[in-house]
Amino acid sequence: MPTRYHSVYIGLGSNLENPWEQLHQAVSAIKQVPDTKFQALSNIYKSCPLGPQEQPEFLNAVALISTALPPEKLLDQLQRIEKQQHRVRSIHWGPRTIDLDILLYADLIIKSKRLTVPHPEIAQRDFVLIPLADICPHLVFPGGVRLADLIRAKPQTNIQLYKSASVFFENQ
Ligand code: ATP
Ligand code: MG
Ligand code: MG
Repeated sequence: MPTRYHSVYIGLGSNLENPWEQLHQAVSAIKQVPDTKFQALSNIYKSCPLGPQEQPEFLNAVALISTALPPEKLLDQLQRIEKQQHRVRSIHWGPRTIDLDILLYADLIIKSKRLTVPHPEIAQRDFVLIPLADICPHLVFPGGVRLADLIRAKPQTNIQLYKSASVFFENQ
């Protein structure tokens, strides 16, 4: 039987140790994940931290991959990359070198001990909604909610374009 590939959106965020470089390292590492093809990267955005305010601004982006890995195996790979980039979990929503969240995995709804998919905060986060729309403006979430409606319903107050995806990939 041919291998089945699934579209997955990954949220990337960094606010420590040269976030621009951290995003590059993470994208390179995601490109090496087994049984996975890198499809697209959104533009790169700046956002203010959630939670504790006394931490640097974030750089955020969203990547689209197609993968044959099941959800928890993909999470293992993303957590391995976080570890490789010295992600330390000290305070909840605290500063981090890199955060890699599974935003959507095909049209699956997952509620397991390790995974909630779609990511439960998508609708509240400008830094997820806007980059998702760069890649797929007509995206419809499992359950039927449209990305464009979420964006229309909410003023985008916590996001600024930082660099385009084409600038990100310059000199690669
Ligand atoms: P938030 O989830 O609000 O963005 P965070 O990304 O800072 O917070 P982490 O410390 O990166 O949270 O992850 C905590 C745990 O969340 C992980 O150990 C992982 O098992 C779990 N988790 C649940 N759902 C997801 C998901 N969709 N993507 C990534 N991790 C998830
Ligand atoms: Mg997160
Ligand atoms: Mg996370």
